[in-house]
Amino acid sequence: MLLFTPGPTPVPQNVRNAMADETMHHRTPEFEAIFEKTRKHLFNLFKTDEVVMIASSGTGAMESAVINLCHNTLLNVNSGKFGERFGKIAQAHNLGSVEIKNEWDTPVNVEAVVEAVKNNSNIDAIAIQISESAGGLRHSVEEIASAVKAINPEIMIIADGITAVGVEKIDVTNIDCLIAGSQKALMLPPGLAILGLSNKAIQKIGSGKGYYLNLASEIKKQKQNTTAYTAATTLIIGLLEVLETIEADGGIEKLYNETTLRAKAVRGALEAIGLHSYPKNPAKSMTTIDDENASEIRKILKEEYSVNVAGGQDHLKGKIFRINQMGLIPVYEMAWVVNAVELALDKLNRRTYDGTASKVFNQLFLELV
Ligand SMILES: *Cc1c(COP(=O)(O)O)cnc(C)c1O
Repeated sequence: MLLFTPGPTPVPQNVRNAMADETMHHRTPEFEAIFEKTRKHLFNLFKTDEVVMIASSGTGAMESAVINLCHNTLLNVNSGKFGERFGKIAQAHNLGSVEIKNEWDTPVNVEAVVEAVKNNSNIDAIAIQISESAGGLRHSVEEIASAVKAINPEIMIIADGITAVGVEKIDVTNIDCLIAGSQKALMLPPGLAILGLSNKAIQKIGSGKGYYLNLASEIKKQKQNTTAYTAATTLIIGLLEVLETIEADGGIEKLYNETTLRAKAVRGALEAIGLHSYPKNPAKSMTTIDDENASEIRKILKEEYSVNVAGGQDHLKGKIFRINQMGLIPVYEMAWVVNAVELALDKLNRRTYDGTASKVFNQLFLELV
């Protein structure tokens, strides 16, 4: 079965092998050496002043960012389930909460964020997805961050990059916290989250908030190549293998370029067979198609063609399907996925199969046209 959900993504064989060794003790020079190497790679990937790894799924990092960087009122951008989650986290911690809500295909307007910030001087942090995975859209985070910092540089910008870090180059000039999770673009099993932090964020964190999710405790320890609590040793060993594999494969820039081409080729192929791309500004992490037969298409893909793609959640359940484009993906797998979608449309008597999807995919991905 080909796993083509936008998280979890497949774990490469060499990474699984690296994680299959005997369990290591985390307070040892051997593990600290691995930790140090991993941190070096992460600085290169995040381009932030500090990075910390925590043993949790992505949501743990979101919560950690909110409690440590928002001390008054959080403005969250809700164009989907993950954006909505930031608001729920703020409310769970009795922080003030202001939300800008849009339909799941609609990226937030930069002006709307600027207006909200100007209208409420209690807002001291903004939380937003770079790629909102619920509908596969890209928010203009860098532009928003720059506009907000021009109004008040003290406002913290928390950017959820769980389906963006490792997908495309992110300009972190005005971002205070950039979050990644292991099971999406980083091609690992779930359970590890990473936060990139600016010096301004570190200042605001001070002695930190919370206990397990206290970022001050982690920053202090991780600078010494260890963790405040037991490290997710196996996942960190896997992460080092992933980051070394990306390097060996030509480097992160090459992966960004390939992901960009893959995104263009998949969307182009599916549009060429009459399908409709859902988000108004698609993220590179996934292609999201809205279609009245979304459930049937997913079922045929899985049962007839061994391709597992994701559906939608909440009000988009049965209305969309989402195809992953993150990670090191063999071209022959991606070509099969778009071909299988075309075969599914034939089975549903929507369109006679003629190989258009894989042809267009190849033309765009291999830059033959
Ligand atoms: C998957 C995802 C999360 C949540 O991560 P969990 O690992 O499920 O806690 C948060 N934000 C985005 C954009 C995601 O895609």
